[in-house]
Amino acid sequence: MQFSDFGLENRLMKTVEHLGFTEPTEIQQQAIPAAMQGHDLIASSKTGSGKTLAFIIPALQRLTKNRALSKRDPRVVILTPTRELAKQVFSQLRLFTANTQFKAVLILGGENFNDQVKVLEKDPHFIVATPGRLADHLTQGHFYLNGLELLILDEADRMLDLGFAKELSQINKAADHRKRQTLLFSATLDHAQVNDFAQELLTKPKRIAIGGAFTEHKDINKRFYLADNLEHKEALLQHFLSHENYQQVIIFTATRSDTERLANILIKAELSAVALSGELNQSQRNQIMEGFSKGHQKILVTTDLASRGLDLVNVSLVINFDMPKHTEEFIHRIGRTGRAGSQGDAIAFVGPKDWLSFKNVEGLLEQTIHFDQVDGLKAKFKGLKPKKAKNQKTDTKVTKAVKTEKSKVKKSTRKTFHAAQDVGDMPILKRKKPLTAQQIENSDLDETE
Ligand code: ADP
Ligand code: MG
Repeated sequence: MQFSDFGLENRLMKTVEHLGFTEPTEIQQQAIPAAMQGHDLIASSKTGSGKTLAFIIPALQRLTKNRALSKRDPRVVILTPTRELAKQVFSQLRLFTANTQFKAVLILGGENFNDQVKVLEKDPHFIVATPGRLADHLTQGHFYLNGLELLILDEADRMLDLGFAKELSQINKAADHRKRQTLLFSATLDHAQVNDFAQELLTKPKRIAIGGAFTEHKDINKRFYLADNLEHKEALLQHFLSHENYQQVIIFTATRSDTERLANILIKAELSAVALSGELNQSQRNQIMEGFSKGHQKILVTTDLASRGLDLVNVSLVINFDMPKHTEEFIHRIGRTGRAGSQGDAIAFVGPKDWLSFKNVEGLLEQTIHFDQVDGLKAKFKGLKPKKAKNQKTDTKVTKAVKTEKSKVKKSTRKTFHAAQDVGDMPILKRKKPLTAQQIENSDLDETE
């Protein structure tokens, strides 16, 4: 299949050609025509498989073909969980709106509110935003959504994890009319929570799932190493940074404070590293991301702030210094490499504090994970064994959590996902309490948008 088979409007087609893309990816092949027919979508495919264009292209096609419902209201709103991802989506969108009559604006938390009011007064056609700030402007009447034609949620599940359900509902209700179309995209949409929410947001949605929910990403080579404690993890890190072949690396830590600490250790060891966390102000965040994407540093130490969506072509290695609090973030973190058909490596350190999270990831991936070892840096820690371990309380929690996660995966796979197949209207799943990581310590996350 070719892009030319979609019957896209001329200028849109030219931009696609200009980007050098001839063949749509699998998710694009399925999502673009379905969205062009006007369906609401719940669409998932692995990280790095081209989901952004799978929603940008049909959005532009619709705007070109249809008359606006209102002269003033935005026609398309695209929401993402982080400011960094919103910026990236915005820059892709700009490639398509340049030289057209369509105006696109970016509305982010952490930036000047009054400047944004002025921007909104210019009646843009597209708004790319983080949900908290956009909801603030909506509350204050700086724009209206009665004429909204498309509401697009990129990384929808993460926005719910971050607690944006209220803002998303508010935005949804403000654009409540029959012609409204809604598209949900992520690599991991197989949550009971997402299903509940989709019931509220979508009308007779089509579900498109390329591959199973958590099928193996063949372009990412995963390795796991046991670690005794922080010092041991640091020694392993130094080892890999001096022995692995990589262009750029992203290192994920559990907490904000660790990003800075770890980056300083690396800088002292004369490595080219920088820390990015939600603790920084927006202009620092912008500067760091810009520098890293231009290759000014080789190593970015960050938190789950950067786990979603970022498309940095030179990242060939991801290191999970700590395992993530939310199980799905593992899929997204390692998905910062191995993008658009390229190969990547992902390494994870698993210490006693990571054990629960590790077992959850193992359950999610539905495979038994074996540990690799580094000569001279072997761990004494061998994992927590539920029956024999001394600390019965922790073990019970671990076992229970793993069981819950496994049954969640099994149930949802059975009920909701069929590989590369549209299964029509969404099944109704009962709200199941997501496996929160209150059980995991150190939950100082970057939930700040
Ligand atoms: P996802 O959202 O699925 O993680 P992205 O939309 O960020 O993936 O796209 C990943 C990379 O693939 C980007 O660099 C993008 O430019 C590229 N890409 C998108 N569509 C195509 C295509 N049809 N052919 C080749 N590369 C593509
Ligand atoms: Mg994406």
